[in-house]
Amino acid sequence: MLARYDLKAARSWKKESLVGRPHSMWRYREMLPLLAGDDPVTLGEGFTPLLHAKRLGLTLGLERLLIKDESLNPTNSFKARGLSAAISRAKALHAETVFLPTAGNAGNAAAAYAAAAGMKCEVFIPKDAKQPFIDECRLYGANVTLVDGLITDAGRLATETAKGRGWYELSTFREAGRAEGKKTMAYELAEQLNWTLPDWIIYPTGGGTGLVGMWKAFAEMEAIGWLAAGQRPKMVSVQTEGCAPIIRAFDSGAETAGTWEGAHTVADGLRVPRAIADFLILRALRESGGAAVAVSDEQMVLDMKAIGSLEGVSAAPEGGAALSAVRALVAAGRIKPHETVVIFNTGGALKYLDVLR
Ligand SMILES: *Cc1c(COP(=O)(O)O)cnc(C)c1O
Repeated sequence: MLARYDLKAARSWKKESLVGRPHSMWRYREMLPLLAGDDPVTLGEGFTPLLHAKRLGLTLGLERLLIKDESLNPTNSFKARGLSAAISRAKALHAETVFLPTAGNAGNAAAAYAAAAGMKCEVFIPKDAKQPFIDECRLYGANVTLVDGLITDAGRLATETAKGRGWYELSTFREAGRAEGKKTMAYELAEQLNWTLPDWIIYPTGGGTGLVGMWKAFAEMEAIGWLAAGQRPKMVSVQTEGCAPIIRAFDSGAETAGTWEGAHTVADGLRVPRAIADFLILRALRESGGAAVAVSDEQMVLDMKAIGSLEGVSAAPEGGAALSAVRALVAAGRIKPHETVVIFNTGGALKYLDVLR
């Protein structure tokens, strides 16, 4: 499910109106799924720093390597954006109980925003997820069901359990809010780069909500006259060698990705064997002239440490993976030294400290 707006009417919305607005993703409220009179459920998500990683860039021969540091969001990952928007919508529709399957961070964010909204939250999570993800759901008062299997199995059990109970579903792309919340990363990039866009966006991809959302946001900003056409970045999906359905499909020229068997990786957010929006992810990668890169868990953890030790930024393995992909694309000559490259550090290191040992 994707939200659509009256883009013709939205042309009267000027970017100058942003001046003085709160530094959260809700500064783009006109292009978010709230009707007049609805209040967002907010914990201060979004408007994260866009850091010029000079020392890290130097080691790669890149002049403008930027880190969009999403670890500073509530609950420590960019899932906060999507769940802030999704739960705001659920609240506007008077939902009482929300539910979702999760690999970890989405469950934490859903639980936190549900608590802030006064709703009950039912989280279905693989039982081998890292313990901090499970504990943090409970911290926010969610009811946690541990599932023997992966996020796809958790999704099946969640749907079965929810049947007939009137629960509001928050699964990826089953409602419009999560993609809308994550698309604000594109609005922020444009605003923070003074209404230009980078040459490359490097995105650690699970369900692809943010990638699809940002691609949609570029089209919106062009339609309302905030960006000139023809300056969109090349989009890069990063996955791990142990779970790379999108990379496999991209390389084979397929339009959909199917299911990856035996998915394993220490990056919980990338342990997604099947993406419902696979075709939208693949379309965005190809339309942008981008790439799809699989990295090893080993390199990804080394790169978490590189981001930490050279830039002082707390990177999740998924953020490390984005850097690993940059390495591969520089080595292949695809990324040039003068190009502007944005890596998304989608979460912080704290819930994954076990992988450092
Ligand atoms: C969920 C998650 C991802 C993947 O995001 P999608 O938009 O679902 O592809 C990447 N990194 C982290 C830390 C995550 O929690």
